[in-house]
Amino acid sequence: MFESLSDRLTGALKDLRGKGRLTDADIDATAREIRLALLEADVSLPVVRTFISRIKQRAKGQEVSGALNPAQQIVKIVNEELIAILGGETRRIQLAKTPPTVIMLAGLQGAGKTTLAGKLAAWLTKQGHTPILVACDLQRPGAVQQLQIVGDRAGVPVFAPNAGTSVGGEGDLGTDGSGDPVAVATDGVAYARDKQYDVVIIDTAGRLGIDEVLMGQAAAIRDATEPDEVLFVLDAMIGQDAVSTAQAFAEGVDFTGVVLTKLDGDARGGAALSVREITGRPIMFASTGEKLEEFDVFHPDRMSSRILGMGDVLSLIEQAEQHWDAAEAEAAAEKISQGELTLDDFLQQMLMIRKMGPIGNLLGMLPGAGDMKDALSQVDDSQLDKIQAIIRGMTPAERDDPKIINASRRIRIANGSGVTVTDVNQLVDRFFAARKMMSQMSGRMGMPGAGKRNA
Ligand code: GDP
Repeated sequence: MFESLSDRLTGALKDLRGKGRLTDADIDATAREIRLALLEADVSLPVVRTFISRIKQRAKGQEVSGALNPAQQIVKIVNEELIAILGGETRRIQLAKTPPTVIMLAGLQGAGKTTLAGKLAAWLTKQGHTPILVACDLQRPGAVQQLQIVGDRAGVPVFAPNAGTSVGGEGDLGTDGSGDPVAVATDGVAYARDKQYDVVIIDTAGRLGIDEVLMGQAAAIRDATEPDEVLFVLDAMIGQDAVSTAQAFAEGVDFTGVVLTKLDGDARGGAALSVREITGRPIMFASTGEKLEEFDVFHPDRMSSRILGMGDVLSLIEQAEQHWDAAEAEAAAEKISQGELTLDDFLQQMLMIRKMGPIGNLLGMLPGAGDMKDALSQVDDSQLDKIQAIIRGMTPAERDDPKIINASRRIRIANGSGVTVTDVNQLVDRFFAARKMMSQMSGRMGMPGAGKRNA
């Protein structure tokens, strides 16, 4: 996510480290570097100009802080200005006073609307809401079915124009059979109200480019359903076109918030960062992959922190809290301290961590992750898949007491899980080494369960 921008910005700011006093020339040189970094990342020119002039003005005006050295002060100013560009405060979904809350999705074809519908629904469900999806993309062949698959995966019903094709045990949905997206949208909202679904997510048709008919249809759906939120879904990988697309949608349909998708791509993505400044509409969510859970609320402060290489520990903690089973973790800690961890425990721990998302994304949230980029790129989920496969290929007795895994067992496990004997050997050896080390460490550090907790 914004990797090259992050690299360049942290590089520009690193040069200031160790300087006792900053001259105007130092500030100008840094500002020039930052400017280049932003332009190279496709941040739009007017946004870059405003940003740089604010940085220079504030840095030269020297808001003196006794607690920070000059370089830290510049980092602080850049951070604050970046947060401002990204929208300042985190903007939450506006819920209707009387349900259902209506959320309409708009954007170009391929932007990620349908995928987002599922992610949003899953996210809302987790918060205790009862969302329903409404399929109003009646143009693209297969779009309705795609939404049904997405709804199925998210475990929410879909209101679709063809009877009997809906999911979620709602076989009588959408019996009007109409091909009119505006009618489907209004029927969908009425259906949700009647059946007491509290959030309606309307997926609309996109086109490959901006066109009048598309805008007209989206505007008609908006007028007919009076949504509480219109979310403009923007593919962060489309580069400079992001700004003109956002402007066209702002004029044609208007929207209350932006969702950035495909932030997992390597593309420069900076154009998307200009959207808030250009349209005045906040970025509300960010999508970072094709999976349901690769999606989160967009926090300008946390994003800025990540871009400046300061990590996003808050998001990491939140994800841990959502997926972590404290009792299970405590039990594992106890076993570790006794040197009794089994491969089964190890597998359970690994599954718990993996629920938090792809491992590379998690590590990327740590402060200084930018500096470890090469190492991080080596860590991928396929290695974890392999470990999982090997452990699953073992019998319960082997998992419980890996010492019994002799040569013939290793061959059987390797064959059964589609890996080489060397892979099995490595896993078993590493497991023993790690268990020993963890047991020693927990003894020394007084981990919970070690029986000699530090006072
Ligand atoms: P729509 O035409 O706007 O409904 O777009 P879709 O939801 O069909 O998405 C288009 C493609 O982008 C699909 O292949 C999705 O799997 C993919 N996609 C959507 N969101 C993301 C994301 O955040 N990251 C990545 N890498 N792919 C995504």
